[in-house]
Amino acid sequence: MSGRLTVVGLGPGDPRYLTAEAVAALGAAQALYGYGPYLERLPPRPGQSRHPSDNREESARAAAALRHAADGADVAVVSGGDPGVFAMAAAICEEIEAGPESWRALDVVFVPGITAMLAVAARIGAPLGHDFCALSLSDNLKPWDLVERRLDAAASAGFVIALYNPVSRARPWQFGSAVQRLRWHLPAATPVVFGRAVGRPDESVRLTTLAEAAAVPADMATLVIVGTKESRVVLRPGRSPLFYTPRAAAEVNA
Ligand code: SAH
Repeated sequence: MSGRLTVVGLGPGDPRYLTAEAVAALGAAQALYGYGPYLERLPPRPGQSRHPSDNREESARAAAALRHAADGADVAVVSGGDPGVFAMAAAICEEIEAGPESWRALDVVFVPGITAMLAVAARIGAPLGHDFCALSLSDNLKPWDLVERRLDAAASAGFVIALYNPVSRARPWQFGSAVQRLRWHLPAATPVVFGRAVGRPDESVRLTTLAEAAAVPADMATLVIVGTKESRVVLRPGRSPLFYTPRAAAEVNA
């Protein structure tokens, strides 16, 4: 019997954001692997085993899930948001590349999910309405000076920037430093949105400016979108403001 591994995106947290494909994959799996709190979002099913692990154990989790699938089981590995965005899909590919030849013969399927930047953008208007990029501020897997070079490149080229993993207990100063860096390239009034725990009961969304952004509290459940000098805020009486980036862009250095 040949097993199967499905890498499933759960979306940002609201069950309405689970795709029909993700629901079907979760229902079919005999074993679920993932970060503990993500597995807790899913109702238990008779006959389905659960294998929670810590957030930092992605390689070990990927290898364990691959071994289980190679034994013939239908295994699902879950990620928050989209599994291909700073998450398990790349960890699975790394393990397949480095692992035994038999893992290359496995049926591996990637099921996309709504990533955090899309969920946050939808709460505030259309900040990603023109060219954008996504950057993780975590320096667990890359040196901080590379993060800084990418921030410089993205901001000076006029990209809207979605910042994943802005702050953690182990990285208290990096976000403030990144904001300071972006100020070299962007006006103080550049709109910035902080979306926290979007799609979950404790969701909050806060619109601010680049000048104020370093003082806004952020944590590992927060996604930050920094606009460009062309991004706009539209104030509306009795309704929340809209932050959007127009579809037409001028010369970057004009
Ligand atoms: N694969 C995930 C991202 C993993 S990196 C995805 O596609 O969304 C983890 C980071 O994602 C967090 O530090 C935060 O920046 C962001 N994030 C994940 N879920 C979020 C949510 N519900 N609201 C806001 N940001 C979220």
